[in-house]
Amino acid sequence: MSEEDLKEALKHFEQFYEEIFLELADFGELKELNVVDNLGDHLIGNVYARYNDEQSAEKAFNALAGKYYHSSLVQEEYSPIISMKDCKCRKYEEGICIRGAFCNFLHLKEVNKSLLRSLKDEMYETHPEYKKNRNNNLNKKTARKHENTSSESSLDKYDNLKRKRIIRKWNVDFMTEKKNNDKKKKIDQTKIDLAILEKKLRSKQFEEDLKKNEQKKKKSEQKKKVDSDEEETITNEDGNK
Ligand SMILES: [Zn+2]
Repeated sequence: MSEEDLKEALKHFEQFYEEIFLELADFGELKELNVVDNLGDHLIGNVYARYNDEQSAEKAFNALAGKYYHSSLVQEEYSPIISMKDCKCRKYEEGICIRGAFCNFLHLKEVNKSLLRSLKDEMYETHPEYKKNRNNNLNKKTARKHENTSSESSLDKYDNLKRKRIIRKWNVDFMTEKKNNDKKKKIDQTKIDLAILEKKLRSKQFEEDLKKNEQKKKKSEQKKKVDSDEEETITNEDGNK
């Protein structure tokens, strides 16, 4: 890729990012917007938007259902991802991911920091209510926390145990889900590894076939040469008679 092409691609990406950021920011306070660089079937073209609250995510989800972006249908899903940190490929960020575009971890496209800052500024300028809502929610949360601590002493031992049990169950559920996901990831990776291996084997087979064909060709050419040489000697002998 020439430098010109790279510049053109970057410009194109930044235009795309700006467009979807501002579009998505209309539904609620956008905390994060990530675009993946992966080419694997289940990741290609994925964009991850994280809102400050679930209601905003729902609003965006409903508004975009059945919509098209430049003649492609927007396919949406609520993502179980809580933190991008766990899903992104650290090797990619260091520039040393050997799996390349078919890596199963997210290769997040880097966004220019000043572009991101200006987009966020624009979002808060257009929607000053986002900051206000956030402060209100925070105040409510702290108020609730105080309520809880004051009423905690009134909880009897039984309630405390029950609460602990519920939290433990949540964690167990979370861990089983995580384990299942890890298993799935492993299976997916094996599939990719197998596909790569198959490709390699196929190209090796192809090379071997090519070699064999060439050898055959050479042999038949040699044979032809011998035959014609023999014919020549025969005609020569005839001429001598
Ligand atoms: Zn990677």
